[in-house]
Amino acid sequence: MKAHDGIYLDGAWRPALSGEVIDVVDPVDEQVIARVPAAGAEDVDAAVRAARAALPGWAATAPAERAARLSALRDALVARKDEIAETVTAELGAPLAFSQAVHAAVPIAVAGSYADLAARHAFEEKVGNSTVFHEPVGVVAAITPWNYPLHQVVAKVAPALAAGCTVVLKPAEDTPLVAQLFAEAVHDAGVPAGVFNLVTGLGPVAGQALAEHPGVDLVSFTGSTAVGRTIAATAGAAIKKVALELGGKSANVILPSADLAKAVNVGVANVMSNSGQTCSAWTRMLVHRDQYDEAVELARTAAAKYGDRIGPLVNAKQQARVRGYIEKGVAEGARLVAGGAEPPRERGYFVSPTVFADVTPEMTVAQEEIFGPVLSVLRYEDEEDALRIANGTVYGLAGAVWAGDEAEAVAFARRMDTGQVDINGGRFNPLAPFGGYKQSGVGRELGAHGLAEYLQTKSLQF
Ligand code: NAP
Ligand code: MG
Repeated sequence: MKAHDGIYLDGAWRPALSGEVIDVVDPVDEQVIARVPAAGAEDVDAAVRAARAALPGWAATAPAERAARLSALRDALVARKDEIAETVTAELGAPLAFSQAVHAAVPIAVAGSYADLAARHAFEEKVGNSTVFHEPVGVVAAITPWNYPLHQVVAKVAPALAAGCTVVLKPAEDTPLVAQLFAEAVHDAGVPAGVFNLVTGLGPVAGQALAEHPGVDLVSFTGSTAVGRTIAATAGAAIKKVALELGGKSANVILPSADLAKAVNVGVANVMSNSGQTCSAWTRMLVHRDQYDEAVELARTAAAKYGDRIGPLVNAKQQARVRGYIEKGVAEGARLVAGGAEPPRERGYFVSPTVFADVTPEMTVAQEEIFGPVLSVLRYEDEEDALRIANGTVYGLAGAVWAGDEAEAVAFARRMDTGQVDINGGRFNPLAPFGGYKQSGVGRELGAHGLAEYLQTKSLQF
């Protein structure tokens, strides 16, 4: 795989001062496919300085010009879409068709949406005798995970640039190559030097140095709750703004009037997609007791179909973690109806599509984010019971409700403590605000709500 041996700093690829490297591994065959720099604190400092120096110029650039650069960025991503898909397949292990349809296509749509929003957004408004200006927050630290490696980058960098902020990105150590392709696209789009900077590196080194840097005004983080909590505490102490996209344990609520087969099949597909490495995945399926046995049978059949069509997990640590959860589910008394902890292949970080029945709400597999192809099917007595179970975790990122009547599903969804709910299989909307209630996060990404995260207001009175 093609890789840059530098970090993208102030408009050019430059050697990292640290001299350290990261081995990038293909999770299908466990082979090292590339090496990239593992930046140190000095590299991060240089990147933040470049971003600070570029801030006044970019913040003063007319929104129409920022929109033009974002439009060019979208085109530069389109020009690389095949390379993006192949790269995500190589470093994440996602099947190529999924990389094309999701990992490459969604970020292109999101970049395009911010080209439009930058052009149309009212960066100035009148409120009585005041004029209110929406000004950029400043220098943004973007720290991203590996599960949707380009989407998560674009969902932060595109609105930040649209707002007039400058950015230092620290992508996940497992997926730095697609972040390098993104930096190439930014460069080709004619974004001025220093406005966007890329430091590949390790979380506890480069990530931490970036989150703690006094030259950063806002930290936007997506990843684990544990790291998110540390970042929020550090940012809080420094009175820095913070946006967090953390975990989820979303409920797929199938009401008795729903089309059961459709709800179960879509629900299983939702969990198995990206090998279960999706923070918004509907990992708890809630079924009425009268339909429970039928639903479990449908889920078993559906999971069996995914057999060898899903990719591996990203690395050995995630594979071991997910296998550990499956063992814990069995130990706590859940009934395995598909898959299991035994890896399906000798080589590669694969886990079999797994379905647990007889899961009760207090079990670990019903409470904790597993981040693998593991579905828990829970039984409910009545609608109130379903609501208690649905709302009974620390998370609240996404969810689904299925019912014969849309109004019935909407009424239930309104009572769920969660940031997004898909009604009867509603389609993904790249403009809809995405983010968590409760411990799933702080702030929103995508669309106009995502743009607002990178703006602060100033009012002038007349
Ligand atoms: P993670 O460690 O939270 O990784 C997210 C990002 O934070 C990566 O860029 C990571 O760098 C960086 N990071 C790690 N420690 C840091 C620190 N002390 N300061 C600043 N940045 C730091 O997540 P993970 O270890 O890859 O995955 C563990 C679990 O997190 C998963 O099993 C899943 O439950 C959850 N997760 C959730 C999401 C989501 O979309 N909400 C995404 C990924 C993972 P490195 O890459 O070097 O670690
Ligand atoms: Mg980590």
